[in-house]
Amino acid sequence: MHQRLYAAIPPFECIEGCTDCCGPVPWSAWELKHAGLDAPPPERADQACVFSLAGHCGIHDRRPLMCRLYGAVEDLRCPHGRGPLVPLPAAEGHELVRRYKLANGMD
Ligand code: SF4
Ligand code: SF4
Repeated sequence: MHQRLYAAIPPFECIEGCTDCCGPVPWSAWELKHAGLDAPPPERADQACVFSLAGHCGIHDRRPLMCRLYGAVEDLRCPHGRGPLVPLPAAEGHELVRRYKLANGMD
C-alpha cells in the first residue's frame, strides 16, 4: 500500500545539499519498520530531522510519505521553487494523505 501511494507522487530533483523543509514528520508502523526503526526518531530542539545529515537525507529511499509529498503537491510547495513540472493537484495530495491515515489508523 505504501509503495502504491509513493508511486503516485511525481518525482523531482531537490537542490543539492538542501534539507530546508525537513523536520518532524508522521511515521506509520510500516514506514518505521522499513527504515529499521522501533519508534519515531526523537524530535530535536531545533526541529531538524535526525536523518538530515550534512544536507542529505540519510534514509532517502526509505523516507516516509510526508517527506515525499513536500514540494510535489500544489499546496506543499518548495520555498526555493523546486518541484515536478506538473505538481500533484492539492485534492490528489489530500486524498493520498487520507488513504495513508485510514490504512494506518491515524486521525
Ligand atoms: S523540497 Fe525544496 S526546501 Fe525541501 S529539500 Fe527540496 S529543495 Fe530543499
Ligand atoms: S526523513 Fe529525510 S526527507 Fe524526511 S524529514 Fe528527515 S531528512 Fe528530511
